[in-house]
Amino acid sequence: MIEIFLRKKYFYPKEYHQTIYDIDFIALKEKGIKNILIDLDNTLIPYDEHLANDQIKTLMKKLESLDFKVMIISNNNEQRVKKFCDDIDCEYIFSARKPFKYGFKKALKKLNHPPRQEVALIGDQFMTDVFGGNRMGFYTIVVDAIKRKTEKWYTKLNRRLERKVLHRLKRTDLEYYEKLHLEGKR
Ligand SMILES: [Mg+2]
Repeated sequence: MIEIFLRKKYFYPKEYHQTIYDIDFIALKEKGIKNILIDLDNTLIPYDEHLANDQIKTLMKKLESLDFKVMIISNNNEQRVKKFCDDIDCEYIFSARKPFKYGFKKALKKLNHPPRQEVALIGDQFMTDVFGGNRMGFYTIVVDAIKRKTEKWYTKLNRRLERKVLHRLKRTDLEYYEKLHLEGKR
């Protein structure tokens, strides 16, 4: 069962970067992306931190100046997500249930239903962010987790599946795998 599941290209991101700060947002703009959904935990802050640092605040200003609509989309609870987002004055979806469509649909509604090819999703997990985003038809970008040590048990489980996905990607589509520069990174 899981083998069939993993075969799908749903798990392949369009881009891989070590951190969110390495993404070329101007190039993203040129690709027609107008809306950016960003995962919170381990994409922007590790699980044991609560507020945005200066680097995140600078990034948000940059995205605003490039005219992107930005929204945080997290599976974590309201208390955590609200605290972070209120501080940087950013829209958010909490308890998003990625990779299911529930939270993504809420996000699209808040963004006034943009064409899905104008939406990018940035996250650190293949099993929730990349898979969920691809199913929605978004432009998916995966980054390295900031700090894996503090991840919960279910995230650790997802990481094991993630390794299987990457192994398969490497085996079945080496050209694409190499293009993503993933070797030795996950
Ligand atoms: Mg995450």
